[in-house]
Amino acid sequence: MSALTKISEHVYWLPPGPPDRPSVCAVVGERRTLLLDAGSSRAHTRAVLEALTAEGEARPSAVVYTHSHWDHVLGGAELGGHVIAHASTARRLVELAARDWSDEALDTRVAAGLSSAAHAADVKEELPAPRTVEVVPADIVFQDGLDVELGGVTVRVRHVGGDHCAESCVMHVEPDRVLFLGDCLCDSPAGALTAELALPLCVAILAFGAELHVEGHGESVLSREELENLIGKLRLAERAVREGTAIDAPDEDTESFVQAFTVARTTAPS
Ligand SMILES: [Zn+2]
Repeated sequence: MSALTKISEHVYWLPPGPPDRPSVCAVVGERRTLLLDAGSSRAHTRAVLEALTAEGEARPSAVVYTHSHWDHVLGGAELGGHVIAHASTARRLVELAARDWSDEALDTRVAAGLSSAAHAADVKEELPAPRTVEVVPADIVFQDGLDVELGGVTVRVRHVGGDHCAESCVMHVEPDRVLFLGDCLCDSPAGALTAELALPLCVAILAFGAELHVEGHGESVLSREELENLIGKLRLAERAVREGTAIDAPDEDTESFVQAFTVARTTAPS
């Protein structure tokens, strides 16, 4: 199990882990601590809270979500604090709370094409049957964004959208210059990236001027140079797919971007 790491003056990061656990961050101010995403289960959130306690830090009083995918929110009940979410995310939380999460229902959703087999397998592993899934609703709902003042540190939450999920929000921690990205740079559940959404999103993300970037499922925290590099590969892939040209010796990132832009072009309505 990966350990909680202090990545800047006010920010702790628990890296992603199996089966589909995403990055979770805690931002510690003089007055309040805020959680950025809640993790996949009570057990996942508890691991974050226990590690924070071991560091001598105060328990978070609230959590803010990047989007409503299960792996980022099902641990929210363990915190027992306020939930801050975009209006679309808040609506989805209500739907997730009403969903049947039994093995049978998960299998039915896969058979109906509503969920992937990998999704069902990950939920079963993270939350062994018989499972009780409690999804707490949002307490504070925003449209475009909001700022959370924690005492000596501010978390600016901004809605950015994108192909992965129209709800996607990012959080910029100031003065640390840490940008918590969630999954916003990832492809859609169908594996697609579109020029229309992905290219403006890259501009919006670079405009925060952050120095450290935490991705939902990235193994390391990206420096500004590393993020610019990654976005350069995305732009290169988009251009190659649009112009129908080949890229010489593409690396793994570039290949996956080419694949995602190709999927979008082959499934787009003509
Ligand atoms: Zn996601």
